[in-house]
Amino acid sequence: MTDPVKNYVESFMAGLIARNPGEKEFHQAVREVVESVAPYILDYPYLKDLKIMERMAEPERVIIFRVPWMDDRGQVHINRGFRVQMNSAIGPYKGGIRFHESVNLSIMKFLAFEQTFKNSLTTLPMGGAKGGSDFSPRGKSDAEVMRFCQSFMTELQRHIGQDTDVPAGDIGVGGREIGYLFGQYKRLRDEFTGTLTGKGLAWGGSLLRPEATGFGVCYFAQEMLATRGQSFEGKTVVVSGAGNVAQYAARKAMDLGAKVVTLSDSDGFIHDPDGLNEEKWNYVMQLKNIYRGRIKEYAEKYPNAKYYPGERPWGIPCDIALPCATQNEIEAADAEKIVKGGCGCVTEGANMPTTPEAIAIIQKAGLLYSPGKASNAGGVATSGLEMTQNSIRQKWTAEEVDAHLHRIMSDIHAACVKYGKDESGNVNYVKGANIAGFIKVANAMVDQGLV
Ligand code: NDP
Repeated sequence: MTDPVKNYVESFMAGLIARNPGEKEFHQAVREVVESVAPYILDYPYLKDLKIMERMAEPERVIIFRVPWMDDRGQVHINRGFRVQMNSAIGPYKGGIRFHESVNLSIMKFLAFEQTFKNSLTTLPMGGAKGGSDFSPRGKSDAEVMRFCQSFMTELQRHIGQDTDVPAGDIGVGGREIGYLFGQYKRLRDEFTGTLTGKGLAWGGSLLRPEATGFGVCYFAQEMLATRGQSFEGKTVVVSGAGNVAQYAARKAMDLGAKVVTLSDSDGFIHDPDGLNEEKWNYVMQLKNIYRGRIKEYAEKYPNAKYYPGERPWGIPCDIALPCATQNEIEAADAEKIVKGGCGCVTEGANMPTTPEAIAIIQKAGLLYSPGKASNAGGVATSGLEMTQNSIRQKWTAEEVDAHLHRIMSDIHAACVKYGKDESGNVNYVKGANIAGFIKVANAMVDQGLV
């Protein structure tokens, strides 16, 4: 980093931290972007004069609200709801809803900020947002989850709409929750529109939306591997998480000829040295999506697999690592293990799963590494395709959606290469994704004046 770039970054971050004290995930996400785009901003001083980066790091609107609900025993609970509408320069706000006990304003702002760049990379007209609550569906009955979703939507519906803000799922928000949220939205607004994505197939959903994030992660990894003449065929793959993204990343990796040897949840991970197969994958789908069980039950069902309570899977040797659980799940010590285990490619399925220190270790060791905002963009891209199908009141085939998804992931990869390739031919996907995502939003903001 040159001195002027360093000065710009440090003075920007000092201002941001002073304005947003204690929001460490938000600081982390913004720093990563500012470090990448600072040289570009200094090359085009009008961007600095117009304070484009300062405006991008200030949400257009933050809504925080009370969500009261009653459990099955008649006890009253109060949770906090959030919607961060970060940037609408290139389209209506778009971004998932997360229900997890860890949700707070910092996590919502980091996710909404990342979403702005990710949505820009998809080439589709979508602004950036994120929402959620510190409510966890884990251990709750269907009736409790429904009452919570209805209460949450009773307030959120005032702030969203098909041309304003279109939420989707994220951690803790899958098909069941989207159904309850959509039902309440429709009831209160008396309209059947595409205001939420990830809907059921019978009521406006798109084929392949559940699969899209995980499949897209593997399509992106394929492109990365191809830059070194490699593929998934015969490779050992370590996956973290056991939710939506992990399930379909594992599925596609298997279909592409790889051996997937781990899955995890917040309690621990399983290592199956034989790898997942069709039957085991179907078991995981039922376990997680129907019975809402824990991943340790996999090792009870398949005795060749071992369960490691309280641990992450990064010590298992592999060729490809796909972190698909949550933010900051690969710390520096985990990165050392990944490198030592012979891994050649880390493709992020989760949002910001790798800490800055861990990214530095992985990049220094020469591994291929892509940030989630590029490699997991297939989910929101397919949500964009769901919005298009809702608007034109048509339904595309799975093959049509998959073809769009494949093309979008290739285009995102090409954009990362365009802005991230150095003289030696190495691609810095962090730099590439951040600059490519930034330019489009920045230009739109300049065009639209000081708003
Ligand atoms: P799910 O809720 O379906 O699954 C999340 C998985 O991660 C679960 O196995 C969960 O375990 C685990 N997990 C959650 N929190 C933690 C934690 N603090 N420590 C360890 N494990 C944890 O979510 P998704 O699969 O939808 O999302 C996973 C990641 O992908 C998130 O970062 C999300 O933002 C990102 N993403 C999701 C998209 C989508 O389309 N769904 C699109 C783009 C990004 P447990 O059951 O124990 O909580």
